[in-house]
Amino acid sequence: MTPEELTQYITEIGEKPFRAKQIFSWLHERQVSSYDEMTNVPKRLRERLASVQPLHALLPVRTLESGRGDTKKFLFRLFDGNVIESVWMKHNHGNSVCISSQVGCNMGCRFCASTLDGCVRNLTPYEMLCQVYAIAALTGERVSNIDVMGSGEPLDNYDNLLRFLRLVSAEEGMNLSLRNVTVSTCGLVPKIRELADEHLQITLAISLHASNDEKRRELMPVAKRWTISELLGACRYYFDQTGRRISFEYALIAGENDTDRCAEELAGLLHGMNCHVNLIPVNPIRERSYRRSGRGAVLEFDKKLENYGINVTIRREMGADIDGACGQLRRNYLTRSD
Ligand code: SAH
Repeated sequence: MTPEELTQYITEIGEKPFRAKQIFSWLHERQVSSYDEMTNVPKRLRERLASVQPLHALLPVRTLESGRGDTKKFLFRLFDGNVIESVWMKHNHGNSVCISSQVGCNMGCRFCASTLDGCVRNLTPYEMLCQVYAIAALTGERVSNIDVMGSGEPLDNYDNLLRFLRLVSAEEGMNLSLRNVTVSTCGLVPKIRELADEHLQITLAISLHASNDEKRRELMPVAKRWTISELLGACRYYFDQTGRRISFEYALIAGENDTDRCAEELAGLLHGMNCHVNLIPVNPIRERSYRRSGRGAVLEFDKKLENYGINVTIRREMGADIDGACGQLRRNYLTRSD
């Protein structure tokens, strides 16, 4: 519940409105994981809340730390036994947490481990928040940025995503600026337009991964529904409505989407757009035969885009040694033989 909803609820059950403030602050500012810790809230009210809406803490079941110590990947168990993964990354400018938005994913991108068994269920706004809270508690570090870029398609869980964004930026809670939040989508066009109309200051990242419709349809089933031109139309609308520069994600797959011709085509698509391209050598997954582009091909692709005047960076790879890519840790946990 937002602070306003909680106040309304608390008043409806005959309590004083200031109790709502206390409870919200315990949940989202001090980030406790049980009602018992809310020591200034009367016991009878705590018991009542616990019976109406139990608080389910996330249980860490596995933690992997990268060799350099700047990335940690957490596997959490939810109250219903499902597991999800979240990643903590230490940067010069602060720490970011990459969270999952669904258990699994329905989008079917060919190179992605998260989608191999489809989507089990949506995560609630509180389950999205708890990934951040749990990681802040486990690492003892402040979280300055959140990427909704883990398993799941956030725009396929749209209402919960919006509620999550409201909660995370609530002054009475974590009070994080939405400028420090990135939401990544494979490109659900009508939802991008809907999100644009919310006029939020989040960064929108688009998983593009191909420079023409034919290749994109091969790699990403969502491209059968909307063309690149329709997708870019929605991106332009997003920029017009929010003034926020779009980020495009492009996973380089050897021989698939990394040729000179692809770079040229991509530059043509993005020409004149206020955007940024992130190149990521694909993380190969066991179930598919895709290979990552070699270092030379990655540098070449990057240079080519730059020469065409496109804003581009090669994503610094963190955590490739700890199943860092989307869905890999969960997948390996679920299919383990031990
Ligand atoms: N569904 C959303 C967010 C989750 S995936 C989306 O599609 O954007 C987060 C990012 O990781 C996406 O850009 C996705 O395409 C990329 N990704 C997934 N598997 C990958 C892999 N094996 N190697 C590199 N990038 C991958």
